Amino acid sequence: MGAYVGDVPEACDGCGRAAEASGMRSTGWAVRVAPANFEGVYCLECASALRLVPWWATCSDCGRASCDEAQAEKEGWRYFLDGMGELHPYCPSCLLKPALADSGDET
Ligand SMILES: [Zn+2]
Ligand SMILES: [Zn+2]
Repeated sequence: MGAYVGDVPEACDGCGRAAEASGMRSTGWAVRVAPANFEGVYCLECASALRLVPWWATCSDCGRASCDEAQAEKEGWRYFLDGMGELHPYCPSCLLKPALADSGDET
């Protein structure tokens, strides 16, 4: 536990793509800790395929809630991992805010 906190994982345990290729570096990732087959670190694509990411997300910034997974995906909701290993969903409007666009992307 805590091995990935504050650090971008090397690669997705689901699809095997590197952090760069799977978008983990730019859009975040999900950490699954469970005594099941799914344990590991997953890019958002795999995370949503495995249903690791809750679709009943509430935007961490404006508090707007999304209760429809397909709709949220269409709208472009994203999930970011903070230093504590917690996933924070953000609605598309808040993703457009400069402050958020800067964090997590260090190119
Ligand atoms: Zn993946
Ligand atoms: Zn928002």
